[in-house]
Amino acid sequence: MSRVLVIGAGGVGSVAVHKMAMNAEIFSHITLASRTKSKCDAIAESVKQRTGVAIDTAALDADDVAATTAMIQAVKPALVVNLALPYQDLNLMDACLAAGVNYMDTANYGPRDEAKFEYKWQWAYQDRFKDAGLMALLGSGFDPGVTSVFTTYTKKHLLDRIDTLDILDCNGGDTGLPFATNFNPEINLREVTAPSRHWENGQWIEGPALTHKQVFDFDQVGEKNMYLMYHEELESLAKFYPEISRIRFWMTFGDSYLKHLDVLQNIGMTSIEPMMFQGREIIPIEFLKALLPEPSSLGPLTKGKTNIGTIATGLKDGVAKTVYVNNICDHEEAYAETGNQAVSYTTGVPAMIGAALMLTGQWKGAGVFNMEQLDPDPFMDMLNTQGLPWKVQDLDAPLAF
Ligand code: NDP
Repeated sequence: MSRVLVIGAGGVGSVAVHKMAMNAEIFSHITLASRTKSKCDAIAESVKQRTGVAIDTAALDADDVAATTAMIQAVKPALVVNLALPYQDLNLMDACLAAGVNYMDTANYGPRDEAKFEYKWQWAYQDRFKDAGLMALLGSGFDPGVTSVFTTYTKKHLLDRIDTLDILDCNGGDTGLPFATNFNPEINLREVTAPSRHWENGQWIEGPALTHKQVFDFDQVGEKNMYLMYHEELESLAKFYPEISRIRFWMTFGDSYLKHLDVLQNIGMTSIEPMMFQGREIIPIEFLKALLPEPSSLGPLTKGKTNIGTIATGLKDGVAKTVYVNNICDHEEAYAETGNQAVSYTTGVPAMIGAALMLTGQWKGAGVFNMEQLDPDPFMDMLNTQGLPWKVQDLDAPLAF
């Protein structure tokens, strides 16, 4: 029985809080705080209707470390779950240290003025969390998050040695809108417009964004174009699995999405460089975010499925094998359960699971942890019981590309 403070009332925060309320024996008291309190109240109303559980809500600017520390001290949670934006990660880690409380998030820190998300800033908190006897768990979403747990599970149970790893992220969902991002548009567009980067033989290989394309036939979705990209779990996987000679990340994009993205990029709308407009400074990508649909509004519109998994090659008992671990999630079912589409669902459920494992002491330690460092088994068990069932398949052959 533990108190939890969740920060961030977007699609991911909404799913996580609904799922926490459905696991009231672990989450005895939930407070949801975010910049806009009305969004917390709307989520609280939905949680009450769907689960009968009442949660507390509060307004909070998590960029204000003193105010956040004071709120943590007043709420007295055993854990702060950061589901705001990556920009808040360090401030929230500082506030957790000041208040003496454990920390968890789903996305690694990136400064606002640099299109770069890296773990180095958060790894630098290792000694401070360790010395305080506190735990910080980084990246407990789907990717990063579940994809690292799938890899750890593969290494623990399916292969004695992993040689190559491909992460395949397919969103086969259709909103019917010409252009929308399925999670925070600013973060999403920064991610997909960054140069591609993969890990090969001990070094990063860079290429232009969204140019290396392959076709893959995804179960329950069908054939999709997927593109080689950089994604944040590549950094922790390369660090914790030096044995893997090549690690790549692929994400599917439809032609319409890419056409819109191309135009937006060509006219400078995805730029993070401040510019003057009618006497005030604006950042084009922030203005674009204001024009695009809120990801949390896409729930009722989205139909189809996500299919995300890992394909690993390696050796088991001396025999070469290729194993595929994946989850398929239905947008409409996710919406029926929590009022949010599958991209928020596939992130919010693992966030709840990471929090549950910390609160129940199944995952514990002092310091800053990535998902790869923790026992995958209780997490994999909860994925099956909490709405994200997975399956393992032996493939006949490695990927042909
Ligand atoms: P949204 O943009 O929908 O929600 C973010 C929420 O954080 C909003 O409610 C926003 O408030 C709030 N917020 C922003 N800044 C502050 C602040 N300074 N203080 C308090 N609250 C703040 O994003 P998502 O729900 O889609 O994503 C949430 C997080 O999950 C992001 O970090 C994202 O990168 C991560 N993510 C991780 C994935 C994974 O698989 N690991 C996949 C998808 C997302 P307001 O409404 O007022 O703007």
